Amino acid sequence: MKKFDVVTLGCKVNQYESEALEKLFETSGYEKVQGKEAADVYVINTCTVTGQAAAKSRQQVSRAKKKNPNAKIAVIGCYSQVTPEEIEALGGVDVIIGTKHRGRVIELLEESERLGSTINIVDNIKQNQEFDELDSSTERDMTRAYLKIQEGCNMYCSYCIIPYARGPISSREIDNIVEETQNLADKGYKEVVLTGIHVESYGKDKGKEYYRLIDVVERVAEVNGIERIRLSSVEPRVITDEFLERYKDTKKGCDHFHLSLQSGSDTILKAMNRKYTTAEYKEKVDLIRKYLPKASITTDIIVGFPGETKELFEETMSFVDNITFAKIHVFPFSRREGTPAYDFPNQVQGPDKKQRAHDLSLKEEKISEDFLDSFIGDNLDVLFEFDSSQPQFSEGYSTNYLRVKVQRDDDLINQIRTVKIMEREGQVLKGIVI
Ligand code: SF4
Repeated sequence: MKKFDVVTLGCKVNQYESEALEKLFETSGYEKVQGKEAADVYVINTCTVTGQAAAKSRQQVSRAKKKNPNAKIAVIGCYSQVTPEEIEALGGVDVIIGTKHRGRVIELLEESERLGSTINIVDNIKQNQEFDELDSSTERDMTRAYLKIQEGCNMYCSYCIIPYARGPISSREIDNIVEETQNLADKGYKEVVLTGIHVESYGKDKGKEYYRLIDVVERVAEVNGIERIRLSSVEPRVITDEFLERYKDTKKGCDHFHLSLQSGSDTILKAMNRKYTTAEYKEKVDLIRKYLPKASITTDIIVGFPGETKELFEETMSFVDNITFAKIHVFPFSRREGTPAYDFPNQVQGPDKKQRAHDLSLKEEKISEDFLDSFIGDNLDVLFEFDSSQPQFSEGYSTNYLRVKVQRDDDLINQIRTVKIMEREGQVLKGIVI
C-alpha cells in the first residue's frame, strides 16, 4: 500500500481542507505515514499570508524531496494559487493546484506519473464562484471540529493577499453544513467551530433572500448532540442587536468573539481599507458585553503598517487599554507583492516594526493575565479535551475560550462540567469541578 503525508501550513481553513484530503487518500487505498516514516506521496498545503509563510511552504517542499527523492509531490493552496511560477521554479514538483479542485489531487498525481511531466491546473480564481465541497469529518480530535461554511473574501484590505489566493466569496449549501454537523454529532463531537475565510459574508453571494451567518448558527444549534458553537473570526459589522439576540437564544453560541481590529488608529484603519472606525469597534464590543457579560474578545493587530508614525502607534497602544481584550495576536506588517500596501510610501523600517511588536506584546501579556484573573472565584462551563502534560490534571476550554485545568479524572474527556476557578497558573486557570 502506498504511503502518503499531507503537510499543512497556515489557517484553520487549510487544516480543515488537509483533513478532508487525508480522508480522500485513506478511502482511496493509501496509508498515512507514521512517525518519521518517508512517504511515497507528499501533499504540501501552502500559505502565503506573510512572506515568512511562503518561505516555510518552500522549505516543506524541499524537506519532502529530501525525505524521499522518489516521492510524488503535489503543492496546493494559497501560495500555489498566487504564484504558481514560483512553485514550478522549485523543480521536482509533480502537481500544482491552487485553492480550487483540491479534490482532484490523487487523479492528477496518477496522471502526472503516466505522462511523466508536471501538471499545473492553477486557474484564474476570480472565474470560479462555486464552493469546493470537501467533507472533512475525520476522527482526529474528538472534542472540537472545524466546519468550513464559506470560501473567499471580497473585502480587499490593502495589506491582504487572501482575496487574490482564495477568490470571491462562495457559500456552502446550508443543508450540506447541517448534514456534516449531524455526522460530527453522531461521532460524539460536542463543539463545532464555524470557519471560513470571511464567515460573516456567508450567503451574500447567493442573493438577498438566502440564509446569513446567524441562520447557519441557528440550524447547527438544532442538531442534537452539538452543545457549543464557536465562530472562527468575525468583523464588527456583523455584530448587531438582532445577531446577538438570536445568537444568545440558541443557548449554544459561545461567548467568545475573535473580532479583528488590525489597528487602533483611524488613520491607519482607513489606509488598510478596513470598514470601521475605532469608535464603531468599541461600540460593538460594548454591545457584545451587553448580551454576554463574560464574553472574551480576542483580536489581531498589525504593527508597522506603512505610514504608521510613532504617534499613530501610540494611538493603538492606548486604544487597546479601553477594550479589555482576552488576547491580542500581534503581527509585524508583512509586505505582500500584489497588494496595494506593497507600494505604499513611508514603509516602516524593520527594527521599528520589531520594537513596536515587542512593546504591544508586552502590554498584551499584562492585559491577558488581568482578564484571566477577573474570573478567579467565578464558575465557568468547561469542555474537557485532554489530559495535560502534568500528569495530575485534565484540561479543557470554557465557553469564553479560557484554558482551565482541574484534578485529573479520565471520565472528564469530552464532557462539559462547571468549574469553580480558584487561581491562575501562567495562562491557565485552575479550579475544582462543582
Ligand atoms: S477581510 Fe481583509 S484581512 Fe480578512 S481575508 Fe478579507 S481581505 Fe484579508
